[in-house]
Formats: sequence, structure tokens, C-alpha cells
Amino acid sequence: MTCYDLHSHSTASDGSLSPTDLVARAIEQGVDVLALTDHDGTEGIIEAQQAAKDTPLTLIAGVEISVTWGGTTVHLVGLNVDLNNIKLQQGLQAMRSYRVGRAKEIAKRLAKAGIPDALESARKYASDVMLGRLHFAKFLVEHGYAKDINSVFKRYLVRNKPGYVPGEWATLGDAVAWIIAAGGQAVIAHPARYKVTATKLRRLITAFKEAGGIGFEVVSGRQHPEEVKTLAKLADKFELYASCGSDFHSPDNTWVELGHLAAMPASCQPIWTQF
Ligand code: AMP
Ligand code: MN
Ligand code: MN
Ligand code: MN
Repeated sequence: MTCYDLHSHSTASDGSLSPTDLVARAIEQGVDVLALTDHDGTEGIIEAQQAAKDTPLTLIAGVEISVTWGGTTVHLVGLNVDLNNIKLQQGLQAMRSYRVGRAKEIAKRLAKAGIPDALESARKYASDVMLGRLHFAKFLVEHGYAKDINSVFKRYLVRNKPGYVPGEWATLGDAVAWIIAAGGQAVIAHPARYKVTATKLRRLITAFKEAGGIGFEVVSGRQHPEEVKTLAKLADKFELYASCGSDFHSPDNTWVELGHLAAMPASCQPIWTQF
């Protein structure tokens, strides 16, 4: 059976492996089809494509776009996007610019909470292309502000905490439109991770479908089997194609490995039938 992993990160966003190392690890782990889906940018794709050349691995050009919908941050994965599409790249460029200002604001708020120089320090954990909360988290952990990444998020980087800046990301309609303009398939990433009611999740799906979205990430890394079932039912009910992806960021997180995913429920229509 073909092993698909359609959600992963490299150093071109907040992953810890370079695109080349990510591809090598995916091959080691038995992945046949890998999508590189860095946050709000596609800078890692060309390197990943080069690394996958002359190997059995099929590399899918992807992206994970941050969206603000109904006051909640939602992530959309775009699969098989044309990197040269101007509409997509202009949209992503705007998001990267927004990230620069947001990072400054995060640092300002952390300084008020007694943590100086967070911007310069977080930058040391990031590549030039993207600065995100995980880079701040790594700096904070390594400097003893919390015991691990999870506690650092809880203590500093989420709503109502000192370093939190409410995101003002793309609209749902724009993000789906950029993916479609670039010839890709839009997928709601890790739907179980949003802190929303079942009713609000259904409203999100409805709005997403109206915008032209077709996919739903039914299987994600480190996910409870019951959750997979619930998401499969939702995909079925809303006639969405099912996707699966580990959301791999780093080998340090031993809970999540490339290609190590629960089986796709038999009731699902896999998104790759649309590739
Ligand atoms: P950003 O897009 O800059 O707001 O950062 C979001 C990213 O932070 C996610 O993609 C994860 O990689 C990371 N993240 C968020 N919450 C947590 C958490 N509790 N533990 C570990 N990583 C997290
Ligand atoms: Mn991330
Ligand atoms: Mn995400
Ligand atoms: Mn992700």
C-alpha cells in the first residue's frame, strides 16, 4: 500500500530538518508520497524537489496557510500548488510581512513581562524566511523560562498570556482562493485541534466548502482513534475528500513520525483521487 504523508514542516518554517533532511527521513520511514507544507510560504519546496529527484519518493508542493475565521485561527493545507502562481505568492508574501510585525509585538510584550531581547534570541532558532511562535518557544525553553515546549506555550504564547498577539491572518475565502488559483486542493488541517464547538466546526466546514475547499484532514499525527472516526463521519457527511498527514516538525518529538499514521477509514474518499 502506498504510504501518504500530506502534512510536514522544514526549516523553511518552524520544522527542525532542512528540506533535504526531511526528504531523506521520509524515505527512511517508508513514505511514498510526501507533501512539504510549511507555514505561509513555499521557500523549501525547490530544495525538497531536488532532494526527491532520482529517489522513489514523490514530493508534493504544499503550503499551510494561517486563517482567521470567526475569531479563531484555522490552518488550511494547500496541496499540489503551482509555486509560480502570482496570486498565491502575493498572498503568502503579505502573510510573511505580517509575521515580521507580529514577532516584534510578541517580543515587546515578552519584554514587558521581564524577558528582554526575545526577538534577536528567537531569530537564532529560525531561518531568514519565517519567524513563528515555535521559535520563541525554543528560545524560552532553552533559557529556562519553562520546562518544555508545551508548558512554554501554555505559560507565555497563548491567549491571555504575556507573549500572545491575536493573529490577523488571511480570510478563509482568500486562502482558499489562492490555493485554487495555484491549481491546488484546499484541505482543513487538523480539524480536531481547534477549540470550537461542534456547531462552530460545522459552520467552518460549510463556509470552507462554499469558498471551494474540498479536503479534510481526517488522519493526523498522534490522534486518538475515536477522533479519526468522528472526523471520518464529518468528511462523509459534508462530502469532503479525506487527507492524512503527520504534521511532523522535528525528530525531537518522538510522538510524531513521518508516515506513521492511523489507517484511513474505509468509508473515506482519499484526497489523492483528486491529484
Ligand atoms: P504561529 O503560526 O507562529 O502562531 O505558530 C504556530 C505553531 O506553533 C504551530 O504550527 C506549532 O508548530 C506550534 N505550536 C503551537 N502550539 C503548540 C504547542 N502547544 N506545543 C508545541 N508546538 C505548538
Ligand atoms: Mn508549526
Ligand atoms: Mn497547523
Ligand atoms: Mn502543520
